Amino acid sequence: MPKLNLSQNGTTSIFEQGPDTDKLEQLLEPHFERPSLRLTPSPYISEKNLTKRWQKLESLTDQDALLDEQSKTNAELYNKNIEHFIGTVKLPVGIAGPLRVNGLYANKDYLVPLATTEAALVASYNRGAQLITAAGGASAMLLNEGVTRTPVFAFERLADAGQFVAWVVTQYDHFKQVAESTTSHGKLHDINVNIDGNQVYLVFEFHTGDASGQNMVTIATHKVFHYILEHAPIEPREAFLDGNLSGDKKPNTHTLRHVRGKKVSADVHLSRELVKKYLHTTPEKMVKFGQMTTTGSALSGGIGVNAHYANALAALYIACGQDAACVAESAIGMTRMEINEQGGLYACVTLPNLMLGTVGGGTGLPSQKACLDILGLHGSGNAKALAEVAASLCLAGELSIVGAFCADHFTRAHQKLAR
Ligand code: NAP
Repeated sequence: MPKLNLSQNGTTSIFEQGPDTDKLEQLLEPHFERPSLRLTPSPYISEKNLTKRWQKLESLTDQDALLDEQSKTNAELYNKNIEHFIGTVKLPVGIAGPLRVNGLYANKDYLVPLATTEAALVASYNRGAQLITAAGGASAMLLNEGVTRTPVFAFERLADAGQFVAWVVTQYDHFKQVAESTTSHGKLHDINVNIDGNQVYLVFEFHTGDASGQNMVTIATHKVFHYILEHAPIEPREAFLDGNLSGDKKPNTHTLRHVRGKKVSADVHLSRELVKKYLHTTPEKMVKFGQMTTTGSALSGGIGVNAHYANALAALYIACGQDAACVAESAIGMTRMEINEQGGLYACVTLPNLMLGTVGGGTGLPSQKACLDILGLHGSGNAKALAEVAASLCLAGELSIVGAFCADHFTRAHQKLAR
């Protein structure tokens, strides 16, 4: 009799040993006693609140490790970025580069700050950056922009949904006016309608200037949402501000061909000699690796094909005050490699969901601003360049990791640097 493979069915292997059902019930049952470790209920940052919180926390940990002098001095600065503040977590920051980018907006050599605790990560991006720079730089092109919020409305039946949409399509100019009354930089540039039986999803897509824009589009769409509820000729039975079509912090196949945030393509041609010198392998081996791992990616059900965009983006986003959770949607895209006419390597990446900005969010906090300053990209007028740098950095990382697998150096690098 074949052994049942429970883990294949999404059941944890703990059940293979036979669960202790009495213990299970005891562990998982609800408990209603008052928690002993309640902190002050006020979410705001003040000296009084900080002191109160630390009176409870000091039995658990070392206060100085979180609330050092600088965190104390800067505490008020974090008021728009965190609730129930107790201090700051320190992360090491390393530099990869110089990374030469020949873009529409990013056009120089960049020193790229990366915050991570993962050894070998910065070394790998640094190697890719050196290689790209030696090859004359990565070409990078911002292709598209757009951030969405997607309200959903439910009606009694399909016919009502149809009537609602017939009214919606006459209102685009009003919607634009209402949305843009909430922001001086956000521009509503597209509205898309999706009917699903008695439900209607409206996709409001904005250009958000130099802000990554999640708050901006939420506030603007909220105002339109209420305008719709007040003025629609047919009243929805239910309505919600977002029907989960926006892809906010979720990878999705739709935005692989469209855009969420900023869409950028970057490429580079590398001579055989450079591949040998920096990656200790050949263009042919790298292309073969690309073919075999593209099949693997398809078999795993991945969205797009890439080796490790998430490493670059998580480290860059954290260093530069971006919303790190947006790595969920940002780290999808396509990496491709070919042999070029000179027998060297052509490599390109396309990332359609780069959710990043150079104003707003965490970009003005002290160390995050300092990292953007290293790039020369803090503040207005710089978000498009930051997106092109991010894509070029991902290209650097793809080349380095593929090279490491081809030369069988991947494990060695981690053993050497992480152990
Ligand atoms: P934000 O800090 O909320 O807004 C950006 C601000 O910058 C706006 O007040 C904008 O003014 C101003 N601004 C000044 N110069 C600008 C320029 N050149 N371009 C664009 N704006 C400029 O940031 P956000 O990017 O909209 O939102 C990012 C934050 O939202 C992140 O911290 C993220 O964690 C969070 N988030 C929110 C949601 C949500 O649904 N609310 C979801 C996910 C993440 P005007 O608006 O007057 O133009």
